[in-house]
Amino acid sequence: MSDKTQTAPTRDDWQAHSLDLDIRSGIYIDGAFGSAASGETFACVSPIDGRTLAHIAAGDDADVDRAVRSARAAFEGGAWSLLAPAKRKRVLLKFAELIRRHQDELALLETLDVGKPIRFSRTVDIPLAADCVAWNAELIDKMYDEVAPTDPSVQATIRREPVGVVGMVVPWNFPLLMAAWKFGPALAAGNSVVLKPAEQSPLTALRVAELAVEAGVPAGVFNVVPGFGHTAGKALGLHADVDMVAFTGSTEVGKYFLTYAGQSNMKQVWLECGGKSPHIVFADAYDLDAAVKAAGMGIFFNSGQVCNAGSRLLVQRSIHDEFVEKLKAFAARMVPGDPLDPKTVLGSVVSQEHLEAICGHVETARRSGAVLEAGGSAVAAVPGGSYMQPTVFSGVDNRMPLAQEEVFGPVLAVIPFDDEAEAVRIANDSMYGLAAGLWTSDLSRSHRLARQIRSGIVWVNTYDAGDMTVPFGGVKQTGFGRDRSPHAFDKYTQLKTVWIHVG
Ligand code: NAD
Repeated sequence: MSDKTQTAPTRDDWQAHSLDLDIRSGIYIDGAFGSAASGETFACVSPIDGRTLAHIAAGDDADVDRAVRSARAAFEGGAWSLLAPAKRKRVLLKFAELIRRHQDELALLETLDVGKPIRFSRTVDIPLAADCVAWNAELIDKMYDEVAPTDPSVQATIRREPVGVVGMVVPWNFPLLMAAWKFGPALAAGNSVVLKPAEQSPLTALRVAELAVEAGVPAGVFNVVPGFGHTAGKALGLHADVDMVAFTGSTEVGKYFLTYAGQSNMKQVWLECGGKSPHIVFADAYDLDAAVKAAGMGIFFNSGQVCNAGSRLLVQRSIHDEFVEKLKAFAARMVPGDPLDPKTVLGSVVSQEHLEAICGHVETARRSGAVLEAGGSAVAAVPGGSYMQPTVFSGVDNRMPLAQEEVFGPVLAVIPFDDEAEAVRIANDSMYGLAAGLWTSDLSRSHRLARQIRSGIVWVNTYDAGDMTVPFGGVKQTGFGRDRSPHAFDKYTQLKTVWIHVG
């Protein structure tokens, strides 16, 4: 199979291709793959069928240190950090084009690694990662510095400079895309990068770093150290020569990074963490069927392993029963299947361990009195794999664990409410604040709630929409800092004042 086929490949094509993939398994430093200093490896297991795909080098302190030294030398050398923005743009546009050209290979790696349906890794994850690199490339030679309105005897400029060596620690749910939201603007701004992918999903990160160098990013500017969180991730967080860490992952681990910064060099830390997003449907929603579909996809897309999943569905009591019936019918149509089959919409979850954790949340919800309306069990869609039925609970009280804890699986909590004030109160009763959705025909209400709900994003009459033009990120214990849009450069650049006495 060619890297970019003219006709859409079939399940058999993907399966055949998966057997002849050349999987990169080393640590990528200074433009070359190598073993971990310790010689240790870890098994990369596909949740599709439990097969071991590769043994990946398990980086730790020594490897992170080598990667940081390489990144520092590249940064100080200036071949990238001091390159004219228009020249960086050209290299990054070529990098984006290489990602597109390797779309099928990267999509297959992603699907094998985390079990997401190939139709989405091929049409969502990989193209959006390429778009992100291209979008940031296009922006970087259009950003101007500022001249301050000082006394005429002074010329004061406010410059945006790259931060330096940027550590990136990312999760497994959209492995390449979450990384691209970080390395796209970071590279465009002239930083050097050390990326640690999640141990569940190292494959695409290793391949794209190689593509970056092929495109012309100087060796040492983009390094990848696969490994575990408590070893490689922690080493990056504690390293005294890392200037900034951009993290996406759980709130628990996000807090560790704040501690690591305090224990080491007070590096900047930016956090994109968990969510328990409210999706609110008022009785005056203009199209209940559209709301049902959005509510269903809002929780079942990517098997619910989405930080902004609409995992708390607040439904106004007068339409509650009708809405739940429609949702059950929607869930019944979402049958988990082989992720390599292009028709599959619901793939596996990321691992057997994660499947067991999801089932644990389901059991707790049952015991706490929630009513199981659909699903509730693991299924063997492919022998040896890790699959979960789409699951709907009604009768959920917002204080129950199911409404407060992030399940990160295809499990929906339906919560009834009576009026607008109660909906806002429930929506805001969460430690998280990533996203919210609401369905209403009342324009005034949509404006009121968009202001009152404490989250980084509010969708009205849609869910999970957006593109590179708008920021993504949250408030409260979801974290701070934004990915996407020109605001991402607030993280990857720092301001310098240069005050020149002209006389
Ligand atoms: P996680 O926090 O377990 O792991 C994320 C990364 O941190 C991984 O690379 C992991 O190896 C590393 N890590 C783990 N323990 C560490 C430690 N002690 N020190 C340093 N690094 C460590 O999260 P996950 O299970 O990979 O991903 C799911 C989480 O990510 C969910 O909470 C989800 O909401 C969140 N997420 C948030 C966003 C967002 O934009 N807000 C996007 C995607 C995912």
